[in-house]
Amino acid sequence: MLQVKQVAKAFSGFQAIARANLTVTKGQVTAVIGPNGAGKSTLFNLITGHLRPDKGQILFKGEEIGGLPPHAICRKGVARSFQLINIFPQLNTFENVQVAVLARYRQSNKLFTPARKLVVEETNEVLNKLDLYPYRERLCNALSYGDQKVLELAIALGNQPEILLLDEPTAGMSPEETRTIVKLIKNLVQNEGLTILLTEHDMDLVFDVAERLMVLHQGQTIAEGPPDEVRRDKAVQNAYLGETG
Ligand code: ADP
Ligand code: MG
Repeated sequence: MLQVKQVAKAFSGFQAIARANLTVTKGQVTAVIGPNGAGKSTLFNLITGHLRPDKGQILFKGEEIGGLPPHAICRKGVARSFQLINIFPQLNTFENVQVAVLARYRQSNKLFTPARKLVVEETNEVLNKLDLYPYRERLCNALSYGDQKVLELAIALGNQPEILLLDEPTAGMSPEETRTIVKLIKNLVQNEGLTILLTEHDMDLVFDVAERLMVLHQGQTIAEGPPDEVRRDKAVQNAYLGETG
């Protein structure tokens, strides 16, 4: 579904991504792991069009998307959840998701269909998938941190993506909130056929949820494959897993 080939990105001479390679298979959870500063968020910004690659290719379903603007990439089916910045705190939970669903209808020229009803149905569907329906009328200011993070997922799903990118989806969460997110991620993949690419610090979580790993170290892909294989990789142990136990 997604292929990153030999991608490079420098910031004023600093090579943040030197040679990144990644293959994401449809219907799987793939995790990009690596120490702080390895380039994980930069790689996500390259995939979603928030940065332009200097070199290499980014293919989504075989089509080059590297360097396209973010809205064009999003429209093709690549969505990411932003850390809280996409939430309108003065709107309620329903309205926040509805904004995302509406934006998609506007883009797809479905103005002549009975859009209002469809948007309401679809918004409710997304809320149900993420167990947020009971909070639909709650102002987002009044949601717990964990529920706000789930709402971010809901807003991203409002775009009806084929692949969802989550940059440290459980950052700052309590163990219980983390378990909730993990359950939702697994549900989305198993029941909705969604493809997920995530970065994550918590290795237990990574090995629990990911079916494929890519290890980034100083901007370079040093290993890629099934978790058990990557765990045994000597270069990975030296560069990363060894350090963190
Ligand atoms: P990670 O997400 O793996 O922690 P990042 O992708 O955020 O790593 O950062 C990788 C490196 O690139 C870091 O050294 C960071 O300081 C640098 N970097 C990230 N974004 C920028 C930017 N916009 N300008 C300059 N340097 C950046
Ligand atoms: Mg990061």
